[in-house]
Amino acid sequence: MPQVTFEEIECKSALNRVRVPSMPSMRWSLNPYRGCQHACVYCFARGNHEFLGYNTGKDFDQRIVVKTNLASVLRRELSRPRWRRESVTIGTACDPYQQAELKYGLTRASLQAFRDHANPCSIITKSPNVTRDLSLLQELSGVAECTVLFSIATLREEVWQHIEPETARPVQRLEAMAKLSEAGVRCGVMLAPIIPSLTDDRENLESVMKAARDYGASFVGDNVLYLQRGTKEWFMPFLRETYPHLLPRYERMYRGAYAPKRYSEEVHETVQELRERWGMTPDRQEPKPAAGQLQLAV
Ligand code: SF4
Repeated sequence: MPQVTFEEIECKSALNRVRVPSMPSMRWSLNPYRGCQHACVYCFARGNHEFLGYNTGKDFDQRIVVKTNLASVLRRELSRPRWRRESVTIGTACDPYQQAELKYGLTRASLQAFRDHANPCSIITKSPNVTRDLSLLQELSGVAECTVLFSIATLREEVWQHIEPETARPVQRLEAMAKLSEAGVRCGVMLAPIIPSLTDDRENLESVMKAARDYGASFVGDNVLYLQRGTKEWFMPFLRETYPHLLPRYERMYRGAYAPKRYSEEVHETVQELRERWGMTPDRQEPKPAAGQLQLAV
């Protein structure tokens, strides 16, 4: 097990404004932690750790900043007369159910605040720990719109172990989703990131799509791998070490942060075709961002 350091801080604000023209329904985010013990090699949020003076590699995985006063700040913000009870996305830059949550319970405390204020929210996670809060999510779903998105890139265990080393097995996420879905909590799958030559083949995409349907997802979103500064420096050495035969292709494809437009379009077309085949809809809350705009750390 990696040695993890928790750095407890007090935050000044809980809700962060999200300004992305192509994502009009996603206007606010909440991240109880900074850094993520799940240690996904492709994580979009790695670059954020530099703002704290930490590196985007091991520090991101093992130096976790904990906003200890988050719930009280959130309750204050939700009580403001000018707050319009807009939906808040929890976990855009960390997994809100990473291992730290079992120690600190900040996500749970935030959900209690959303429930008490009947405020809509959505959660993005790779962790079955979310089922700990099943009854709370049911209560929340009874008073406001509440969605849990499970991020699943592949069901192939060998690839999963390489790219998401500290996460629960994909099938455990699916089982957690089935449990929530059966309890009446709206769930979806983010088929993301779609990684060239590792998870972008039709067989992989279809296996996740079919599993999403079988385990109770209401929709499936998708995103192609994005390698911005802070992530690329971590991902490319991983690729060199683990899948060296793919390096030349990535050097051609990822001169910038985004995969070539034509490639992304073809992948999205395949995903859409599979959605239609398996009776799924795209994620209506989090449409894909355009180049240069924010992506979620899934
Ligand atoms: S992609 Fe999500 S789960 Fe993985 S390290 Fe980043 S925030 Fe954590």
